[in-house]
Amino acid sequence: KRGGKNGFRFFDPDLNLHYRERIKLENDLRGALDRGEFILHYQPQVSVSEQRVVGLEALLRWRHPSLGLITPPAFIQVAEEVGLIGDISRWVVDTATAQLAQWQRDGFRDLRLSINLSSHDFDRDETIDRVAERVAHHGLLPDRFDVEITESVMMRDTSEVVARVQRLRECGVGISIDDFGTGYSALAYLQKFPVSSLKIDRSFVSELDGPAAMPIIAAITGIARGFDLHLVVEGVEQAEQAERLRHLGCDIMQGYFFSAAVTAAEAEAWLRQPRALLC
Ligand code: C2E
Ligand code: MG
Ligand code: MG
Ligand code: MG
Repeated sequence: KRGGKNGFRFFDPDLNLHYRERIKLENDLRGALDRGEFILHYQPQVSVSEQRVVGLEALLRWRHPSLGLITPPAFIQVAEEVGLIGDISRWVVDTATAQLAQWQRDGFRDLRLSINLSSHDFDRDETIDRVAERVAHHGLLPDRFDVEITESVMMRDTSEVVARVQRLRECGVGISIDDFGTGYSALAYLQKFPVSSLKIDRSFVSELDGPAAMPIIAAITGIARGFDLHLVVEGVEQAEQAERLRHLGCDIMQGYFFSAAVTAAEAEAWLRQPRALLC
């Protein structure tokens, strides 16, 4: 009887559906690059003191033929597990560097653009080689192109991983620590890796009313100043948050309050037409 019950649970229709969804997702993902279903959207990063967009973060979207626009949390891990992440990252690198080159030709010479890479991209040379090759090919201005990595990369901490991060830095690419403050012993990594930029995780912004967020944000702004790092705060959703962050020493802000990630054409409209930015 007991075994039968477990057996029944094993064939739980919901679990079965999840399994089938997963298989379908994998299959769809395998052809997505060839079918041209990926697109980069760009989220503005605003300097509050300058009242203009100074940077953009490229965020990957998948235009799924039946499911619509899908964001990375729904497919990046699957891509990593089935070995597709390298091809996807190469597409992201190619697309983002070509777009930045275009914007630089159009005169947006101080614009910064960042991409996100997977920790898997630091297990091998291909993606890193590709970044170096594309940056050189397009003759991108130095220190305008950033690779965002999470502490999951830094936690690997092998000499190979450190060397790959170093190589990016040596070809003029900035290294930005994404979701800063959420990992472990983040401070030790600042000595080991050639970091140029920090992104304060949005969880601190959403918890601004709690007891810990303000001192943590103040400490991170101090670290950024002390190490002479570029600083961006993410997940700013309300005017009040922007105001408080400004008082804590944050200037460059990213979040729905200013804009979600938008198409390249819409991002360009942000660059061309300064608009009144509240706060
Ligand atoms: P992330 O790099 O920390 O990117 C910020 C995420 O927060 C984005 O979600 C963005 O749309 C969202 N966001 C922006 N402003 C706000 C806000 O004010 N409030 C809230 N609640 N969320 C906000 P998205 O695009 O779904 O990306 C999720 C994660 O997927 C990214 O986190 C990044 O780790 C990863 N990712 C995105 N693009 C790529 C890519 O091209 N390659 C790889 N390997 N990973 C990517
Ligand atoms: Mg990011
Ligand atoms: Mg982040
Ligand atoms: Mg994140």
